[in-house]
Amino acid sequence: MTELTVIAAADRPLPVEPFRGRHLIDGEWVESADRATFERHSPAHGILVSQSAKGGLAETDAAIEAARKAFDAGLWSRISGKERATILLKVADLIEANIDEIARWETLESGKPITQSRGEVGGAGDLWRYAASLARTMKGDSHNTLGEDMLGVILKEPIGVVSIITPWNFPFWILSQKLPFALAAGCTCVIKPSEMTPTTTVRMGELLIEAGIPAGVVNIVLGYGQPVGSRMSEHPEVDMVTFTGSTAVGKTISATAAGTLKKVALELGGKNPQVIFPNADLDGAADAVTFGVYFNAGECCNSSSRIIVHEDIAETFVENVVALSRRVAFGDPLDPDTQVGAIVTPEHQAKIDGYVREAEAAGARICLGGGSLTVPGADGQFYQPTVVVGVTPDMPIAREEVFGPVLSVLTFRTLDEALAIVNDATYGLSAGIWSDDVHTCLDFARRAQAGTVWTNSWMDGFPEMTFGGMKQSGQGREIGPYGLDEFLEVKTLAMRIGQTRS
Ligand code: NAD
Repeated sequence: MTELTVIAAADRPLPVEPFRGRHLIDGEWVESADRATFERHSPAHGILVSQSAKGGLAETDAAIEAARKAFDAGLWSRISGKERATILLKVADLIEANIDEIARWETLESGKPITQSRGEVGGAGDLWRYAASLARTMKGDSHNTLGEDMLGVILKEPIGVVSIITPWNFPFWILSQKLPFALAAGCTCVIKPSEMTPTTTVRMGELLIEAGIPAGVVNIVLGYGQPVGSRMSEHPEVDMVTFTGSTAVGKTISATAAGTLKKVALELGGKNPQVIFPNADLDGAADAVTFGVYFNAGECCNSSSRIIVHEDIAETFVENVVALSRRVAFGDPLDPDTQVGAIVTPEHQAKIDGYVREAEAAGARICLGGGSLTVPGADGQFYQPTVVVGVTPDMPIAREEVFGPVLSVLTFRTLDEALAIVNDATYGLSAGIWSDDVHTCLDFARRAQAGTVWTNSWMDGFPEMTFGGMKQSGQGREIGPYGLDEFLEVKTLAMRIGQTRS
């Protein structure tokens, strides 16, 4: 039997100087008042990567105050779309000029493969470019059928001060799904990156300053959910919170924000199925399933962590996926040939393993992997590519986010049966179908409870399209024109024309 493909950690120079991250408040880089800091070690190499200022209430309040002052002064909110677009395009240029350096920090802090980090940073630059186009083209509406002496105008205005709270799995990309759109709308922002991956957000702040963003328009506070993220959610001077992360924390943020009834946009977890019919391009489907489950080591909201395969082809399809899984290169994330890197923390690795052990105890069968992976020369945690068959819809491994390189295989006989499994879920982020019958694909697409449906593809995304979840996968939409709308207030202006008659 073929072994797994493992890439050993090379004896290459790693940074000896950790990145020193500070808060960005009102255009200045500052330490915390109490000089507190926190550290991040590489999950693949064990070395110290960054030491960051650890924010508290004082820093959070100062950042919110700076954003409020900048918004009210109109430094950004009242300049033309063209002026805002000019800065956003400069940021895009700077991101593209710094891809390799930013990608290296992203890989060192998150453990993801370097080629993937480069793709993520480059793609983020394109989101800034697209958002710049929206800054110049957004518009309201008018009504001239309200009677001869009335004109109605619908204005779109920036919502105000926005708190942006991001997770560790795609730090630079997810920031770029939010920040350029908020800025295009004319909002000012306070950002808190995950405590696990603060550095690339600080680098973004440096690029923004280099691009000429006015002081106070973008502020960054480094630190933990408590107290920083919590304060950013409850503060009365914040008009909106946009959050990407776990469903549990999303619910806490919603509850905290309810005190001031501020707008809340949430991008949360997913348990995303791909349904595979016998008449599909089965080689293409197997490739997509393999990519979908191992991309970002499965630490991805869009991970296709469960597949629902027609029972006539289940055995051969799984054999194919297992064979492909053995060829996926796991190992040192700094090696350009690596496709799957390290797991973010030892605690998270133990959680992944817990799901696998629990499924095994409940009667599922592990046909590949199912344990930690040894990567020679590395000093961190890695998990084997894992395929679990005989999974039933009631098992936690089939219902909850595993967030690791673990595929659960379920089977079906009819489209109705497959849809029942797909929709019997608390999440509703994305879903996919593989079939060469367009009617089956469209029927599935209409009935699947998911914010995104892919037919005969997986994880294709475009800045022009939109992204977001149904059910407990979130509320609101990001990117595309809808992504801009989230940061805009709608104002109705009713104008009487000419003499007012009595
Ligand atoms: P997390 O919820 O643990 O943390 C996310 C952020 O919230 C971090 O910055 C954290 O410090 C902060 N936070 C923690 N407690 C808080 C509180 N009480 N108030 C305010 N902020 C708080 O998520 P994570 O582990 O960093 O990321 C993984 C999760 O993110 C997964 O569930 C994944 O599905 C989800 N995710 C969703 C999408 C999407 O677009 N739907 C994209 C990426 C990740």
